[in-house]
Amino acid sequence: MRVRALLTVPVLAALAACGTPAAAPASGQSDPVAIATTTQLGSILGDITDCAGTSSATLMGPGDDPHEFSVSSAQVAQLVRTKLVVASGLGLEQGLESALGNAAADGATIYEVAPDLDPLAYADIEAAQAAQHAGHTHATGSEEHSDEHDHGTYDPHVHMDVGRMATAAEKIGARLAAETGDDRYTSCGAEVAGELRATDAEVRQILSAIPTEKRILITDHEAYNYFADAYGFEIAGVVIPGGSTDAQPNSADLAGLVEVIREDGVSVVFSNNTVNPRLVDALAAEAGTDVQVVQLYEGSVGEPGTDAATYAGMMLADARLVADALA
Ligand SMILES: [Zn+2]
Repeated sequence: MRVRALLTVPVLAALAACGTPAAAPASGQSDPVAIATTTQLGSILGDITDCAGTSSATLMGPGDDPHEFSVSSAQVAQLVRTKLVVASGLGLEQGLESALGNAAADGATIYEVAPDLDPLAYADIEAAQAAQHAGHTHATGSEEHSDEHDHGTYDPHVHMDVGRMATAAEKIGARLAAETGDDRYTSCGAEVAGELRATDAEVRQILSAIPTEKRILITDHEAYNYFADAYGFEIAGVVIPGGSTDAQPNSADLAGLVEVIREDGVSVVFSNNTVNPRLVDALAAEAGTDVQVVQLYEGSVGEPGTDAATYAGMMLADARLVADALA
């Protein structure tokens, strides 16, 4: 029996009213033992609680943008009742910040895992990118405008490095064991971490088909620094500046990106499954008819029933999409 459930907004509302078969926990339990914010963490948490014979739930669903997603105050009660809320943190879940703050004030235990995953500082990322671009005459344009707003000290998109998320599985398992007094969560966290390390090796194997000179990414927003750092890519530019998805590029930003695409001979621009591709499509069209747009899984896992419906599946799908586009 599958006890994991996606607590999407309508499901949570229904749960509050009368409970639903889709979200009903296993026999005798009135609430999931833990609730994750993002679909990526929800997938990993679900594997851990499945292993331990308990249940968990996830606030976001496929297609939800983790920067924008929010819940109602009524749904905060669910977060207070569960043993542990597993969040990414570092500002990723901007739309959930007040709900998580209210839940914590009402006694919820919230574990933000990204700060424990050796996060990358924006200052270091930008210095490395400046060094990579030192030989070029163009400017990518967006970084200068975005520094004063939106993003914090560290990049929150840790989910784009499978190795870091393997460590996350261990840390979530240990934290669940501490909160519940049940040591199965520690061994289950380690088991899931081992599976994710195998996935990480498979991602590297798939990406190894891409030659060094083709390892250049232009993406919808600044979500791929961990992917680039872990798997050996250069980020040549982003369409939406500022580390989140709510900013608008100005015409100088876009003109600079078109210049980068032409100078570097970039033939692919990557969009993602939780951001409207309108701006990426417009940029690709502006840059030339030979520039294609490839949609990756970044903000969330894929729809149920697809190969990308789990976190591991999402990252393997991305590796294949990137390899097919660039190799
Ligand atoms: Zn993002």
